[in-house]
Amino acid sequence: MDEGNVLIECRDCTFRDSFANLGRARVALADHESETGHGVDWQINRVADGVERAGDDAGICGVSGCTNTESALLDWPQSDDES
Ligand SMILES: [Zn+2]
Repeated sequence: MDEGNVLIECRDCTFRDSFANLGRARVALADHESETGHGVDWQINRVADGVERAGDDAGICGVSGCTNTESALLDWPQSDDES
């Protein structure tokens, strides 16, 4: 199960399989589609997980970045007044 990072699943029959790398999954997907004319979906588990984490991190960074930018902007007119 651990080596199956790329899942392929047919929308038109019960065909589904998992692969350790994208290349093999693409070959199997293309084979099934060309042989049967079915439409095959695929999922990349590791990438999906990474994107989800990156999204969470970006959300947290974005909020604190906005707060910092606002206080920095408030400081600018004051130092401009002093000089
Ligand atoms: Zn199929």
